[in-house]
Amino acid sequence: MIERMFASVIDSISAAVGEDRSGWSGAALSARLLELMEAEQAIRAEVIRCVGQWDAMAAWAEDGALSASSWMAHRTATTKADASVLVRTARLVQGNERTAKALAAGDISPAHVEVAARAARHVEDIYANHEDGLVDAAQTVTPEQFKVVMNYWRNHAEAIVDHESPEVRFERRNLYISPVLDQMARLDGYLDAEVCARLAATLDVMEPPDPTDGPEKPRTLVQRRADALVRLVMGERPTTPTTIDVIVDLDTLMGRLPTDLTTARCEIVGFGPIDRDTAVRLACDAAVGRVMMRGKSEVLDVGRRTREPSAALRRALNARDRTCVEPGCDVPADWCDAHHCIPWIEGGDTDLDNLELRCRRHHIKEHAGQRAPPHARAA
Ligand SMILES: [Zn+2]
Ligand SMILES: [Zn+2]
Repeated sequence: MIERMFASVIDSISAAVGEDRSGWSGAALSARLLELMEAEQAIRAEVIRCVGQWDAMAAWAEDGALSASSWMAHRTATTKADASVLVRTARLVQGNERTAKALAAGDISPAHVEVAARAARHVEDIYANHEDGLVDAAQTVTPEQFKVVMNYWRNHAEAIVDHESPEVRFERRNLYISPVLDQMARLDGYLDAEVCARLAATLDVMEPPDPTDGPEKPRTLVQRRADALVRLVMGERPTTPTTIDVIVDLDTLMGRLPTDLTTARCEIVGFGPIDRDTAVRLACDAAVGRVMMRGKSEVLDVGRRTREPSAALRRALNARDRTCVEPGCDVPADWCDAHHCIPWIEGGDTDLDNLELRCRRHHIKEHAGQRAPPHARAA
């Protein structure tokens, strides 16, 4: 039997439980809360390290358990889902020295490491290659901000292992419409981030927030979106055109990981992260706004989204190509993107000579063919 080490910690907690805090000021309660959470974090960090060592020698098997997380769900007050996150986190720490050191030194918190472990699932080898940059980033941002960094990195890592090319992913698109028992039905689908961003923007323009001082209780966002979808189905169109904007940093565009990961951007504004190939394809279409960044604040290029010239240009393009230009494809002009034959990042102009109509599927295919990182242009 090993000596019990945390008896005094448990005594302190018991004392806190017995504490009468009824007359305490807000400041005093805040101070106690901070102290408790600091203790919780210190314990959590040590639990992670201990699980890592325990799991590395498969100590759970000695009790007949089939896995570390089932041992935990059985022997401790943990759900299986929480146990697997803990085990994954512990394995990440156990296998990555710099992460382990930063956690032990308190330079990063258990929450940072958990965020990293969730994002690094199935791409742990790539995490090991990028560990320095990721730990550097974690030290300068909150766990919430670190989620953004790790989401970005995850897209980058997936592109490296090529888990799923944009073409393969596109083939998984679906939309389920299923009746359920209570006279309602359920919509559930898996669509391009871009399509969803456009849909959300359209719905939100059609049903803006209700006044808070009106006769009726304001509808929730999800109720408004449901109402707007009905109007869309009935043939209404938004009165103001909706557009989406893409922000991407130069390093990402060039296919390399930025040194300072906290400055990495590759997203649809107001929607969420997308992968590099999608960003390049979206920015290719003249109707999508684009902002290219270097570092946190230097804007290198703002793609023009001026409506008049691009509407005229688009009319000319529609008249010339009439359908998607892919041989044998007859998707009509209105459903096509305007693709830049010479990519705009390589200096291709947004003019009739350099544009052609491509349907969504053939636009994705065309970009898959020119996936090699473009040459950096002096900027
Ligand atoms: Zn294109
Ligand atoms: Zn086509």
